[in-house]
Order: sequence, then C-alpha cells, then structure tokens
Amino acid sequence: MATTEELKKQLTYEKKSFFETADDAAREAALRYAEGYRAFIDYAKTERESVDYAVKAAEREGYRPYRWGDKLTAGGKYYLNNRGKSLYLFRIGAESPENGIRIVASHIDSPRLDLKPVPVYEEGGMAFLKTHYYGGIRKYQWTAIPLALHGTVALRGGETVSVRIGEEENDPVFYINDLLPHLSAEQDQKPLGKAISGEALNLLSGSAPADKGTESEEIKLNLLRLLNERCGIKEEDLISAELCAVPAFKARDVGLDRWLLAAYGHDDHVCAYPSLTALFESAGEKRTVCCILADKEETGSNGSTWMQSRILADLIDEIAAAFSCDANRIRANSECLSADVAAAYDPNFPEVFEKRNAALLSCGVAVCKYTGARGKSGTNDASAEFTAKIRSLLDAHQVNWQIAELGKVDAGGGGTVAKFISVHNIDTIDVGVPVLSMHAPYEVISKADLYSAHLAISAFLTD
Ligand code: MN
Ligand code: MN
Repeated sequence: MATTEELKKQLTYEKKSFFETADDAAREAALRYAEGYRAFIDYAKTERESVDYAVKAAEREGYRPYRWGDKLTAGGKYYLNNRGKSLYLFRIGAESPENGIRIVASHIDSPRLDLKPVPVYEEGGMAFLKTHYYGGIRKYQWTAIPLALHGTVALRGGETVSVRIGEEENDPVFYINDLLPHLSAEQDQKPLGKAISGEALNLLSGSAPADKGTESEEIKLNLLRLLNERCGIKEEDLISAELCAVPAFKARDVGLDRWLLAAYGHDDHVCAYPSLTALFESAGEKRTVCCILADKEETGSNGSTWMQSRILADLIDEIAAAFSCDANRIRANSECLSADVAAAYDPNFPEVFEKRNAALLSCGVAVCKYTGARGKSGTNDASAEFTAKIRSLLDAHQVNWQIAELGKVDAGGGGTVAKFISVHNIDTIDVGVPVLSMHAPYEVISKADLYSAHLAISAFLTD
C-alpha cells in the first residue's frame, strides 16, 4: 500500500516555486534574461515606442515589412505595422497554414495620463497641462511623483514630431501637486477613489513668465515658447497629438536578493517582451506562427489599432489567399495564448484574494482559464480540452507554471484580449506574469516568473 507521502505526491496539486527546481544555470539564465527586459521597459513606455523597439528587433531577425496584398512565401518572416501603434509579426511555416496558426497576443499600452486637446493653462503663478487619464488608474497614486511626457504631435502638413521629455538624467520632469497633510483634514475623510478627482490631475509644467510677468498669462506663454523651441509646435498643434504623461522612473531591482523588478508598465510589457523573444528564438519551421502586440487594451480594445478591429481576421484572409487555402479552416485550426498579466497574491491585502486559486509570486507563469467579473461576465472561458492541451504542453517542456484567477469572486474582476481572438473561432487561453500593484505607476514582478513566461511562450510557438 502507498504511504501517505506517496499518495500526496501522486494525487494532489501543488504549486512549485521556481527556486525549488531551478539549478544554478537556470537561475543565472533567468537573471540574465531580465536584463534584456529591463532595457526594453526603460525605452518602451508607450505603444508607439514598443512598436518602434519591436520593429527594429524584428528587422535584425530578418523580418520584413508587409503591406496588404504583398506576396507571401513559405519560410518568410513579416511584420504588419498598424499605424505605428500595434504590430503583427508572423512567420510562414513550411506546412499549409490550413493546419492552423499559433498566435500569441499581448498588449503594449499601459495606464497613463493623456494630455487633453487644449491642455495649457496658467493659475496661481504656475503653468499646467490638463490630462484625461487612460485606462484604469487609482488617481491618488499619480500625484507627487516625477512624470515624463512621451508621444507624437501630428502637424497640419502631415509631418509628425516625437516628444520625449523627462527621461534623461538632466531633463526636467512634470509633477501633479498633492495636498499637504497639515491641510488635508477634509480630504482625508473622503473615500480613496474620490480624494483626487480626474480634473485635479494637472501637470505642473512651469512657473516663469515669458518676460517680466506684467502681462496676463505670461507663464503659459513661456511654456508655449519653450515647447515651440524644443518641439516646433504651437498650442493648436496639441489638438492632433497623442502626448502621455508616464512615470519618469527607470526599472530597479527590489529586495537585496534582486529577484524582483519594479518598473512602470509591466502590464503588459512583461508579456510583450517574452512574446517577442520567444518568437525570435522559436525553432519550429513547420507551423505558421504570429505574435500580436496590441494597443488600446486598457480602454476596452476598441478602435482600429486594437483587438476588436478586423485586422487579425483580414490578415488570416490574406494568408489564406496567398496559399490557396480556406480562411475559415485556418481559423478553426489556430490556437492562441492571450499573454497578459495576472494579479499576484499580496499578503498586505489577503482579503481580496482566494489563495488556493491566486497567482503566487515566483511560482511561474500564470495560466488563467477564465477572467471576467461578476460571475465570469465578459470572459473567454477556455475549454477544459484546450486547457488540458496547454498544461500538458507546458509540462512536456518543463515550464514552471501555475493555474490562477484574478481574486475573490465578489471582489471585482477584469478582462483581456482573449475574447476578441476566440470570437474568430480560435481556441484561446490567458497566460501571464503575476504582478504586484498592477496599474500603479511602479509595478513589481518576479524575474523568475518573467523567465517562465518566455519559456512557456517558446514552448507554444516551437512545439
Ligand atoms: Mn493587461
Ligand atoms: Mn491592465
């Protein structure tokens, strides 16, 4: 008869920490891998910068720009750059695409503060830029921290100007004023979500007048003058601009053992980066594979640059036409990993997590069968069969992974792009790196989990 110990080993499910099984070589590989990610995340804070980075990396790997209608050949490596804001990289396999495409989709937009179309104003001896926040933020977290301005201004003539202020050591930064504790008695009584209003998220951007300050609004004028000198733009040009205030922090190791990494925008760059590295390293020549870097996930995946647009379906139509096969059959045989972050169990807030089903830090890439809120509403719930296929694939490749859901059933919820891919009749499941303080200006992940995500996506694209 089996001992209790043996029965336990045979019959029970237990999550395993990366450190339990990783030898010195695996640990070193994980730490080294995180250095590449650090360089990516410090550069690519917006979707445009992420596309820019990915295009350069893809070209080094032999990927070529694809335009609608271009000829496609087996073995060819292509990227479709959608308006500089989302990207579809794909490699055509030796076998017919009708056997299905393996797709990995992540998003490259992160919560931030976008400038309003008429943002500049002056008040109380200061010039400000008004913002309209993008994505789900906890507003109080964005005050009293250094912010940088990233983005693009499109001019009347069609030229565009890139803006990036606040990232260099000697650059000025922007700042959102907060109340001093001496005078916050009334504000302190408000619920956290109401303490700072959306209209209070104004960027402090100047305090000196254009001349002596004897004329009205000279400080505003001076700010416009400096913007004009630096970027060649006028106030009206801000109407056709996408300028985002993002945290001016660089990624830093957290903790003396250096296994955690803090940065702005882990959600979802921490899945986008392993998707890219996995694509470039994947050895499979047979199957057609595709890596999608999506925009607008944080605002509901609407618009032409993301996932509710027709582009993925159109691209599959193009591939079908190029190889004289049936697009519906390609879709039916395709499979997708929706690579997006999971909420890591946080012992500071145990009340919102159900620990058995929460993603645990350092226990590997999280597989989420479903997301959604209020009774799985709005979820792509991966089938039991597809979930089984993915878990056996990850085990076969010795990937450290764990099953997870977002939090307690009634605590809230969230979604990913999974449902916008599975709508095309493509089996899809969520996988991603667990994150602490998700959507905060400075989020934290484990380098062990980041590396597991790379191995998981590699296994999927290679197998
Ligand atoms: Mn996300
Ligand atoms: Mn998010």
